[in-house]
Amino acid sequence: MELVFATNNKHKLEELAHLVGAKFKLLSLREINCFDDIAETADTLEGNAAIKAHYIWDKFGKNCFADDTGLEVDALDGRPGVYSARYAGEDQNSAANVTKLLGELDGKENRKARFRTVICLIIEGKEYFFEGIVNGHITIVRRGNEGFGYDPVFQPDGYSQTFAEMDMESKSKISHRGRATELLISYLKSL
Ligand code: IMP
Repeated sequence: MELVFATNNKHKLEELAHLVGAKFKLLSLREINCFDDIAETADTLEGNAAIKAHYIWDKFGKNCFADDTGLEVDALDGRPGVYSARYAGEDQNSAANVTKLLGELDGKENRKARFRTVICLIIEGKEYFFEGIVNGHITIVRRGNEGFGYDPVFQPDGYSQTFAEMDMESKSKISHRGRATELLISYLKSL
């Protein structure tokens, strides 16, 4: 079965293609000639994942899925959440996002946080959601050079390393995206 993954991130696509196995032919947006900039205008992860997946189903009539991820910090009432990528501003980068986060948490005792990934799958027009969560806390300073985004300041519960101090395989086993993907894959395998 052909299945579109609403991304052009080659790394994410290869990883998923490997996991779903030969039963599914995963296609990127580029491979279906979709070069549109799909605006992520919802104020929830579920909403943004659904916008992307419905866009593909409505315009191309293809079974598809899309994901959205956010970092939710308790002391910041769940921010940056759905705005994680552009927390420090539209033109800013991960380094600026992390600096802003550490600044906002300066002096705060409660540093609890979680990464949450939501995947929206559409099969023949029917919508399904899968969620993956990893709980942890925001460290005082950056540690590690692996990964991306907020990895240097996120330490998952039960571990002494930040995500940026873990190799990709160890991180994937416990990460938000890894868990949401596992649920998606076990559903796809049951079809
Ligand atoms: P996306 O929905 O996967 O594009 O993620 C949105 C934003 O959340 C990214 O730009 C990163 O800032 C952050 N993020 C998502 N996943 C991770 C992760 O595994 N580690 C660190 N930051 C992440």
